[in-house]
Amino acid sequence: MSPVPDSWCDLVIRGGTVATAGSSAGCDLGITDGKISQIGGDLRGRRELDARGAYVLPGGIDMHVHLSTSEPPPENQNQGQNNQQEKRIAPGPGKPAVPDWVDDFASGSAAAIAGGVTTFGNMTFPAPGGTLRSAIDRDLELAKTAAVDYVLHPVLMDPTPDALAELQKLARAGHTSLKLFMTSAQFERHADAMIDAVQLAGQHGMLTLIHCEDGALIRFANKRLLADGRGTLADWAASRPVAAEQAAVERAVAICELTGSPIYIVHLSSAAALAAARRGRSRGLPVFVEARPLYLYLTSVALAEPDGGKYIGAPPLRELDDVVALWSGLTDGSVDTLGSDHAPWKLEQKIDESLDVTTARQGVADLETMLPMLFSAGVLTGRLSLARYIALTSTNPAKLFGLFPAKGTIAVGSDADLVVLDPKIRRTINGATMQSKSGYSTYDGTEVSGWPRFTISRGDIVLEDGQVTATPSRGRWLHRAPTTAP
Ligand SMILES: [Zn+2]
Repeated sequence: MSPVPDSWCDLVIRGGTVATAGSSAGCDLGITDGKISQIGGDLRGRRELDARGAYVLPGGIDMHVHLSTSEPPPENQNQGQNNQQEKRIAPGPGKPAVPDWVDDFASGSAAAIAGGVTTFGNMTFPAPGGTLRSAIDRDLELAKTAAVDYVLHPVLMDPTPDALAELQKLARAGHTSLKLFMTSAQFERHADAMIDAVQLAGQHGMLTLIHCEDGALIRFANKRLLADGRGTLADWAASRPVAAEQAAVERAVAICELTGSPIYIVHLSSAAALAAARRGRSRGLPVFVEARPLYLYLTSVALAEPDGGKYIGAPPLRELDDVVALWSGLTDGSVDTLGSDHAPWKLEQKIDESLDVTTARQGVADLETMLPMLFSAGVLTGRLSLARYIALTSTNPAKLFGLFPAKGTIAVGSDADLVVLDPKIRRTINGATMQSKSGYSTYDGTEVSGWPRFTISRGDIVLEDGQVTATPSRGRWLHRAPTTAP
């Protein structure tokens, strides 16, 4: 038997349409040592994959997931609603009313791979009284079970001088993002220091992710509902009005303007909030917007279903006009990225009748469904160009989160993180058979065309014939460069 010539690639992907956010062409792709080594031309591989009839796309990048064992912020003087509010944002173990999310880095990775996502970003909450660094260290340990590459976003709940002093060190260590919750009572109590944190983050090349809903307005709306004898899970939409989101986005844009630091609005949900973000961008401000799949396919009508609690996330599902506005944002570029906000629970935990609008379990599983749903409802219907799809799901997040061009494109020298997406694979969504431990999907019963034939992470085939084939714990933490605008 003659040895394989040195000129052969480790892997060749044959006959697909290779597409990036800038161009697409029918050609073969060669991979060597985990990186893309040749695009087009004569190629021979030790192994070859058939991509005929499929697109070869940069792997999906989902910068918004919750997989770690999160812990609640420190107990404080705040009683009642404010306290519940904060526990709800950062649920933790040993809190029977608010148990932990059901996916860890291993099952979350499997869901990512099955859905064509090859890099994810996890929200990393500090332990009570703990530093940001210790939270990062804890999640770096937990994330060793991940099967694809990942980054961690430190969450700032308590902006003490010590915490602010950590930002530069974190940025230098490659953690170039920071997450804030305007919903938190602590945000209002320490607003001056929170604004200082945004400024410092920007000075150190970090992107500040902000959950934009005004906490005081939401607490007021909840109090009024409960006083009226309402406030069950069916009242979720009324408990978090658009006005609270719009006010928070306007304030976040003002914080961006005065600090000069870039901000990234996570899971923007309404037409009014998008208009507020657009006004900031039209003035040249570095305001970036993430859409969440939930708001592209469902309206508040779903919350009125008998088990409507299963759709609960914050912000709540909105109205048809909002859905239309978000789709226009996806196509016209005023939305930059798509993030799943994968925060999975079991169905019985979601629809538990002992919960009300102040204790509802927020979040749904969406890592496995995010990309196929957008391809099916966006690209295949002609609403969204393939180039915009790739920009939203891979290239833009790679740039904003300091990962480009190793991630987010197909170029010689880039990591071979790829999805061979077959538009003819058609499936009816059934959360019970998916990788997440959630056991249900908010899209159960929906017919979706366009699933990965193969998912490839740094040259390894991690999904083949619908089966996750990744070696456990093969994922790596990624040291990030400063944020750049897409
Ligand atoms: Zn989230």
